[in-house]
Amino acid sequence: MRSELGIIGFPIGHSISPVFQQAALDYCGIDATYRATEVSPEQIGDFVKNLRRPEVLGINVTVPHKEAVIPYLDEVDEFATEAGAVNTIVNRNGRLTGHNTDGYGFLRALQESGGFRPRGRKVLIVGAGGAARGVVQALVREGFSQLLVANRTLARAEVLVQLAKVRGIPAQAIPLSWNELSLAAVEAHLIVNCTTIGMAHGPDPQGTPLLLHQIPPGSLVYDLVYNPLETPLLRAAARAGAGTLGGIQMLVHQGAASFEMWTGETAPVPVMLAAATEVMKKMDTSRNK
Ligand code: NAP
Repeated sequence: MRSELGIIGFPIGHSISPVFQQAALDYCGIDATYRATEVSPEQIGDFVKNLRRPEVLGINVTVPHKEAVIPYLDEVDEFATEAGAVNTIVNRNGRLTGHNTDGYGFLRALQESGGFRPRGRKVLIVGAGGAARGVVQALVREGFSQLLVANRTLARAEVLVQLAKVRGIPAQAIPLSWNELSLAAVEAHLIVNCTTIGMAHGPDPQGTPLLLHQIPPGSLVYDLVYNPLETPLLRAAARAGAGTLGGIQMLVHQGAASFEMWTGETAPVPVMLAAATEVMKKMDTSRNK
């Protein structure tokens, strides 16, 4: 019996998870198919109930269903509970568990590809949506010395700042203005873009939350946006002499953690990264034609 895996979202056409997950399954010789399925909010309950079938190993869950799936699961782990969001469902003998591997993926990429250890460092997060929440939660577990969160909607930044303050980490919310960002960036060791600025088909695809002269040369600039691979922010950071890390590594590492939960096998991360990068490069090329 061929096993079933996949990802659900609404819409879902943009997802590259099928490409790198199928590459990993094939590389490991696992007899399974990973498919993207568009599931509307009205269909979510029935869809999740149907995952208890023996051929289903599990699924990934993306926007807008990460919260909506929770009531249909038997158990939710501590990371997903803390985030209030599930990105991975595992089916074991008809029992469905919910997990969140986003924070893990963020940290693995930061440490392995960025060579960065958060402890004792000052961090500037730009953005305060779902991804930023996962990033702050992951960083807080590691411990660091100071957090600044800049966001267009200041109230959302205030909420994230509290996650650090309750752990005794000095933290402040600031508006998304050029002046405030300049002052904040000057002292930052790590700058993370968690907004959709710079994202293809997003609200501001040519934009960057920080300009070249605002980026300290010794910092690491981590852009969660992975489409395109090289965002305007990463280009500016490279020219400023800062280290750069794109979102594709995080995407692959969160997927690798899901893969290991479903299959019990070590994920072939280099194979997954190569497949993901190849498909993104093709998208970049066709967009620039
Ligand atoms: P979200 O919850 O919708 O949050 C969007 C964030 O972007 C908010 O902070 C929002 O500010 C800000 N924003 C949107 N349009 C803006 C504009 N025109 N000017 C300034 N700020 C703007 O989205 P999300 O799920 O957190 O995702 C954010 C980004 O991270 C996306 O590009 C996504 O692809 C990427 N991501 C990457 C990975 C990965 O594995 N690499 C994982 C998750 C997400 P307001 O609060 O003021 O609306």
